Amino acid sequence: MPSNRRCPLPSETPGELARYFDRLWPLLRSLTGEGVRRTHDILAELVPLERLEIPTGTACFDWTVPTEWICRQAYIVAPDGRRMLDVAEYNLHLVNYSVPFRGTLRRAKLDEHLHSLPDQPDAIPYVTSYYAPRWGFCLTQRQRDRLPEGDYQVMIDTEHVAGSMTISHTVLPGDQPDEVLISTYTCHPSLANDNLSGPLAAAFLYRRLAALPQRRMTYRFVWLPETIGSIAYLQRLGEHLRRRLVAGYVVSCIGDPAPFTYKRSRRGDTPADRAALIALRKFSGERLRLLDFDPSGSDERQYCSPGFDLPVGVIARSIYGSYPEYHTSLDNRDFISFEALVESVGALLATLLVLDRNVVYRRTNPYGEPELGRRGLYPTLGTRRQRDERLTALLWLLNLADGRHDLVAIAERSGADFDLLHELAGECLRAGLIDGPA
Ligand code: ZN
Repeated sequence: MPSNRRCPLPSETPGELARYFDRLWPLLRSLTGEGVRRTHDILAELVPLERLEIPTGTACFDWTVPTEWICRQAYIVAPDGRRMLDVAEYNLHLVNYSVPFRGTLRRAKLDEHLHSLPDQPDAIPYVTSYYAPRWGFCLTQRQRDRLPEGDYQVMIDTEHVAGSMTISHTVLPGDQPDEVLISTYTCHPSLANDNLSGPLAAAFLYRRLAALPQRRMTYRFVWLPETIGSIAYLQRLGEHLRRRLVAGYVVSCIGDPAPFTYKRSRRGDTPADRAALIALRKFSGERLRLLDFDPSGSDERQYCSPGFDLPVGVIARSIYGSYPEYHTSLDNRDFISFEALVESVGALLATLLVLDRNVVYRRTNPYGEPELGRRGLYPTLGTRRQRDERLTALLWLLNLADGRHDLVAIAERSGADFDLLHELAGECLRAGLIDGPA
């Protein structure tokens, strides 16, 4: 698979990502609570995170920050005395945000609180009940079918208390106050592609970006619970983002080895959309999956709500809802690939570098073509094809460097490689043929 390898150190290894993954996997994450805080503590080893704790009951547009969920233990004792569906063994066994319950139920009554997938009899579903008070357990259809008649003792020691919702963010300043947003969510327990891949990719992307000697744009990274988290973040920073945001991406489902998917922003032709297409095509070529905006999905729904209409798209591989393992126990460590996750970090960085380098140039003397040979710019090195490619890109650059076309527009119109155009722009700047940011 072709890839842009012109990325600076430090570069992460699959093993390093795997070690972080294995530490994050067992934590019982939810919209709120200690599992989320411990997750953010671990991510803070990679990123200097600023923590926002938004109190329960805080109004955020049409929503209210929920109570904090505490889960001490949850399991069922089967008629033969064996403990089963223990959340301590596997987080997905308990319906996330379950209310407390203790009691003995006959099998038929217990069944009303069980969740399984008849079409995927070996998968355990991921079920949440954030906004309706209920309890339940999740198991495979095969296990459910084998449950004998008898009495089942249910123990759910959970509590919903006034606490806070955890959001972490950080801003990596650049030469300009214009911002690029990377948003990802940390509310899913023990699921790999959706969603541990996103927070991990974002954290390692931050490290790569922070190591650059220079950045033109300012980069904002945020880790939050899906929906209520981005709504709360917009409540605080929406006006700022409306003024400053040039491009943003929700990073989600980016750990499996499938080609990249890009879901366009609501406006569809923003710098975010144009940069992502240029960068991601270099990784996935014709296999890049391009989706138009639709108002379902992840936090792009909030960023692209009509009052904000921010330039935010989604970068994914097998995007949420599109693969059978999604929101089940099959979306696990075996479903993703740490090599693919490393490449995803590179693809995200490549996308941000397109944005960072997307400037407008203007010819210093726009009358006729400049004489290239005299300035050592006429390509003489490489195969004929390489020389032709370089010369064509150079001619396009010098033609469209008119103060109106940015570098992405020149790449779009010419079909020339963006990185080559960027390199040639540097040479033309040094030769005094164009003006613009270095
Ligand atoms: Zn999800």
